[in-house]
Amino acid sequence: MTSIELITNLAYVVAAALFILGLKLLSHPSTARKGNAISAVGMLVAVVVTLLDRQIISYQWILLGFVLGGAIGMWKAKRVEMTQMPQMVSLFNGFGGAASLLLGWATVSSLNAASAQWSDTFLFTTVFLTVLIGGVTFSGSLVAWGKLSGKMSAKAIIFTGLRELSVLHLLAFVVVGYLFITQPQQPMWLYLAILLSISFGLLATVSIGGADMPVVIALLNSYSGVAATAAGLAVGNTILIVTGLLVGASGLILTNIMCKAMNRSLMNVLLSGFAKPVEAGEQIQGEVKVLAAQDAFYVLEAAQAVLVVPGYGMAVAQAQHAVRELQSLLEDNGCTVEYAIHPVAGRMPGHMNVLLAEADVPYDQLYEMDDVNPRMENYDVVIVIGANDVVNPAAKEMKGSPIYGMPVIEAYRANSVFVLKRSAAAGFAGVDNPLFFKDNTRMVLGDAKDTINSIVREFADVA
Ligand code: NDP
Repeated sequence: MTSIELITNLAYVVAAALFILGLKLLSHPSTARKGNAISAVGMLVAVVVTLLDRQIISYQWILLGFVLGGAIGMWKAKRVEMTQMPQMVSLFNGFGGAASLLLGWATVSSLNAASAQWSDTFLFTTVFLTVLIGGVTFSGSLVAWGKLSGKMSAKAIIFTGLRELSVLHLLAFVVVGYLFITQPQQPMWLYLAILLSISFGLLATVSIGGADMPVVIALLNSYSGVAATAAGLAVGNTILIVTGLLVGASGLILTNIMCKAMNRSLMNVLLSGFAKPVEAGEQIQGEVKVLAAQDAFYVLEAAQAVLVVPGYGMAVAQAQHAVRELQSLLEDNGCTVEYAIHPVAGRMPGHMNVLLAEADVPYDQLYEMDDVNPRMENYDVVIVIGANDVVNPAAKEMKGSPIYGMPVIEAYRANSVFVLKRSAAAGFAGVDNPLFFKDNTRMVLGDAKDTINSIVREFADVA
């Protein structure tokens, strides 16, 4: 090994170590910024070393791409709203997939007719996988972006023959893959592989409903990593293999966490469009008891320990700042306030954490479901703000319920529960919620932000 190769490999090890450290720090909100910065330094090391180590076509083109891409990225990042994050992440994944696809394509087109590499089966197998996974990631991510941003209908698009068409694609991958690997000089097979991968990505995602897109994004994120790994193997770049594997594994772990928290299998999410509609569960007996915001205030004024459970409705109402204000007033009144965050509350992983961080809610007041459930009886009041499925006791009590077995925040075990939403309607899973009918539950009906603002005004009036 020459000294240049040694330095290059050492630099790659440093970059890989920085990525792993960065990922570790990203796992907690208080260290996440640092983790991001450390990972960025790792990427800088990797890029610089690769540029110095490789025979680069032209630095001018690279610089142009860097300036242009960097400017567009910075412009988009500054403009994007917190609520638009899922679609932004989806675009990132898609571009990652497209970059791998182009790298695979360029690897083949850069070979001259006399190259000995035309007989390299390993090379063309990895190129084929790069193009295949990169293309699926690219088109699938564009659909996910379209559904989440409202640019296309969020409904699952199902048409006759969809299943057969998908199976045909899978068969075609095997045939075209074989032909490409055995006859790589024939450009038609590569173009066919690109076309097939893009159309399969479209087919596989249009049939999934918009609400399941966050799971799909996590999975596509994993695919973009796998595509990068295949590209790294094709071009013989160690750091690309390592980063691709890290992205692939973390995306898969996230997908798994989300599926588990919803008590659904990945297959159920991916094939949800083909599934039968949810059957109505057993009828819930009882009566919903409604409370006015003013009366809710009197109870809260006397409370010593309050737990806030936010859900998708808090995001819809944009109530996070009002919630923060209420928290301060309760604390000034001598009450402790904690938050319980369910892993799939909202519509993307970390949705509630991001909103609450935006409103300056301290991280150390956010607790996971398993932390609060054992001490639920200690809370005087649990305020459920626009959450529904994640507090649904049917998951524990009703064996026939479609969400039976899903881990939930057991708000119903608290002394009293205030549910802030507009009606007693079902949540995302379409399942009625027996919590609304419990003796210790009061529904404070209306838009969550308006309701909290009313309670806040009551506090101000007595001050
Ligand atoms: P849900 O979707 O179950 O319920 C949200 C509730 O918010 C609705 O019942 C709605 O009731 C209420 N709401 C809507 N707008 C307002 C408003 N302006 N003010 C007050 N309330 C409002 O939300 P959860 O967070 O409890 O559960 C999330 C669901 O999403 C789970 O089923 C999860 O599996 C699923 N999911 C989550 C993903 C994630 O990554 N987090 C990914 C994919 C799916 P009403 O209309 O009566 O006001």
